[in-house]
Amino acid sequence: MALLGEFELIARYFTRPVRRAALGVGDDCALLAPAPGHELAVSSDMLVEGRHFVSTVAADRLGHKALAVNLSDLAACGARPLAFTLSLALPAADEAFLAPFARGLLALAERHDCELIGGDTTRGPVTTIAITVFGEVATGAALLRSGARVGDDLYVSGTLGDARLALEALRGSVALSGDAFGRVRRAMEEPTPRVELGRALVGVASSAIDVSDGLAGDLGHVLRASGVGATVELAALPCGADLADQSEALQRECLLSGGDDYELVFTAAAGRRDAVGAAARASATPVTRIGRIEAAPGLRVVDATGRELGGALASFDHFLAASGTAAS
Ligand code: ADP
Ligand code: MG
Repeated sequence: MALLGEFELIARYFTRPVRRAALGVGDDCALLAPAPGHELAVSSDMLVEGRHFVSTVAADRLGHKALAVNLSDLAACGARPLAFTLSLALPAADEAFLAPFARGLLALAERHDCELIGGDTTRGPVTTIAITVFGEVATGAALLRSGARVGDDLYVSGTLGDARLALEALRGSVALSGDAFGRVRRAMEEPTPRVELGRALVGVASSAIDVSDGLAGDLGHVLRASGVGATVELAALPCGADLADQSEALQRECLLSGGDDYELVFTAAAGRRDAVGAAARASATPVTRIGRIEAAPGLRVVDATGRELGGALASFDHFLAASGTAAS
């Protein structure tokens, strides 16, 4: 294969005709404006080989995931995706990696009408992917972490814990059948950003966050930002069939502390249950009520009898964790 230069690489894999933006790849800046009456929602997430993904991950899934984790942040704010930039550090210009990577990335981008408008490309010691997404949301309407109120219901989309179960299987701490491993590995490597649900929750939810570091930790951010507390019912947490086959201790760990789920956790006034149901149906996204917001600060997890569970509720922190691949 002929050697691929930086500019050829960009032209071949990352240059697409621009639709929504005023200017895309090829100049010193891209040009992008939100619709009148809207604000730009901006978020960045980085994936580093050996830290956020293993080198054996399929490149198309890696492309998907790199954009998915960014779209998930737009979803949590209720924003509509517009565009993104892609900054890549690569050990080599390897087309066997670049072609499927671009395919996975751009397929998800296409699905959400989110165009690639620029980036940066450099050689680097390990594959590193930094994406910034831009979305739009009606002025003042963005869903924030700070909006939860005492008496609100607490909800989560989809199911929790499969990505963590896959990570445990990769680490060898749990044995899964080939089929089960394939399913949970896909949940970890190809998460579905809940963009449609997030948009449908604008004007309905009082607060929202996406679960990247585990339910307990991410919900904790909402509780602190809102100055409230919460009780979550363990038995209400939505669990996939493969995780339901595991020991109770592992289920609890994956449901409460597992990262990389990219589901939305959100609150809404108790009087808005019908509106939450309508948002779930309109976005074809399963939503489960898992608890309520209370005045007493902190997170309480109770079992089916209402008894509070003991033990620390861990959440992933890159600088507190000792080592290894982890949630972003
Ligand atoms: P500059 O030196 O002015 O920063 P570059 O030479 O880095 O420009 O990039 C040339 C053009 O290609 C720019 O429009 C930039 O946004 C775009 N670009 C660079 N890398 C990527 C990438 N990985 N994906 C998409 N666009 C990229
Ligand atoms: Mg540059």
